[in-house]
Amino acid sequence: MSRHIGSVCKLCRRESEKLFLKGSRCYTDKCAIERRGYPPGQHGQRRAKISDFGVQLREKQKLKRLYGIQERPMRNVFQLATRMKGITGENLLALIERRLDNVVYRIGFASSRKEARQLVKHKHFTINGKKANVPSMKVDKGDIIELVKGSRESAKLVGALEANAMREVPAWIEVDKHNFKGIIRDLPKRDDITSKIEERLVVELYGK
Ligand code: SF4
Repeated sequence: MSRHIGSVCKLCRRESEKLFLKGSRCYTDKCAIERRGYPPGQHGQRRAKISDFGVQLREKQKLKRLYGIQERPMRNVFQLATRMKGITGENLLALIERRLDNVVYRIGFASSRKEARQLVKHKHFTINGKKANVPSMKVDKGDIIELVKGSRESAKLVGALEANAMREVPAWIEVDKHNFKGIIRDLPKRDDITSKIEERLVVELYGK
């Protein structure tokens, strides 16, 4: 599946839910969901009957779009989740939440996960002192994610930390703004993930 290059707001409208794909705009009344909270297209306002498969598919798409993950990596994470102890759906969400691009976004270095992915690819961060430029890398308990010294002069990056301070940082990450770093205090648990995702539906779909 190719990466979506059209309006990202349409992705939110398709799911009839805010996926926070556009940074600060998502928190204003310019948000397309605030204005037109129904699916895009000619028949968007029609009440269509949706099958069980359709419900599962929409939930999977919502999860992929929320975190900006393509189909193949998502299936790979699902396979990994099935091999772990515990509930597969919760494992799946926790693994996705541990992605480096998501952690950079959660710390507040970026206004969206898309922007966070770009920053990671451009080598702005280290994990435990080592350069980390793969957005899908998983962080572990005790890891320290740090902005590289050369990027601390960037007004955009420093400003982002201030601008994104309004967003709540999950309890499993400790942010040290003065030293431009985040520390993984624990691995995320289901209750730490507040996005409205019914992971059971995603597991049902992939388990078919
Ligand atoms: Fe989604 Fe943000 Fe666009 Fe609103 S502004 S529809 S939350 S991407």
